[in-house]
Amino acid sequence: MSASRPAPVSRPDLSAATAVVGVIGDPVAHSRSPLLHNTAFAELGLDWVSVGFPVGAGSITTALAGARALGVRGLSVTMPHKGAVAGLVGRRSPLAARLGAVNCVVAEGDGWLGENTDGPGFVASLRRRDAFDPQGRRCLVIGAGGAARAVVAALGDAGAAKVIVVNRSSGRGADAAALAGPAGRSGVPSDATACDLVVNATPLGMERAAGGAEAAWPLDPALLVAGQVVVDLVYNPALTPWLAAARQRGARASNGLGMLVHQAALQVGAWTGLEPPVEAMWRAVEGAEPGPPG
Ligand code: NAP
Repeated sequence: MSASRPAPVSRPDLSAATAVVGVIGDPVAHSRSPLLHNTAFAELGLDWVSVGFPVGAGSITTALAGARALGVRGLSVTMPHKGAVAGLVGRRSPLAARLGAVNCVVAEGDGWLGENTDGPGFVASLRRRDAFDPQGRRCLVIGAGGAARAVVAALGDAGAAKVIVVNRSSGRGADAAALAGPAGRSGVPSDATACDLVVNATPLGMERAAGGAEAAWPLDPALLVAGQVVVDLVYNPALTPWLAAARQRGARASNGLGMLVHQAALQVGAWTGLEPPVEAMWRAVEGAEPGPPG
């Protein structure tokens, strides 16, 4: 039995002069970041390409040095490398240093500049998609992991009046809250009712069978109120059961696709120095098949 040959793929747009960037993580095969970057490069008319580099935790030091030696212009850094890369780059932006996490490196001299576009991407999406400016507003973030820390810092930097962190481990919650400066504090789930913005930055609430345990919610939807902006950083599924419950309560509910698009747009800007074509990037992911985060 002979296996059928795959149809040939012609890529005359790629050449020895093509500038290469990529996403580095483990896993990366289903990452939507190359789609977002490549859409931006095509729209900008740039001879650049973005690909996935699957790199295990034990190989990150070698991979970063090798990528620089090969002339790679920049990398989007995803799980599990964001913390490690913060300790490996030659220079970090003030925000990346504060977070101790890097989600993007930019070629600089013989080494890398480490940036973090997650939180600024989240706030850019809030402003664009949800018409919500955090300035002077009361915000509550559930979770204290990498995504939560980026969001808390960005809300503080955007002038939020309050950034309340609710987390399972209270010590981690207090550490995260401190990233928002004087506006930050630890809180309890019932604080959500008095907030203008509620963000789920945990993986909870993605799956909840009818009649499932209340513990499956990141926060009891009964604590949400009409008119609030409620964001779940998860975007697959596009509407989590928790987000659907928030919408039923009258909240303006959004998923994490906006953060994904805008953090990638800011990476394109950092690498190329050009204004990223955000609308085209939005269209690319809205028309694409669902995939896991990254
Ligand atoms: P992480 O660093 O592992 O943090 C997970 C957080 O969730 C921690 O605060 C953890 O609490 C809490 N948590 C986990 N399981 C829990 C449980 N059973 N009960 C209560 N709390 C629990 O993860 P991350 O990287 O921040 O990602 C968090 C979510 O954001 C994920 O769903 C991820 O897919 C999503 N995300 C989206 C984007 C985007 O672009 N839209 C970007 C990054 C991440 P403890 O501190 O107590 O352990």
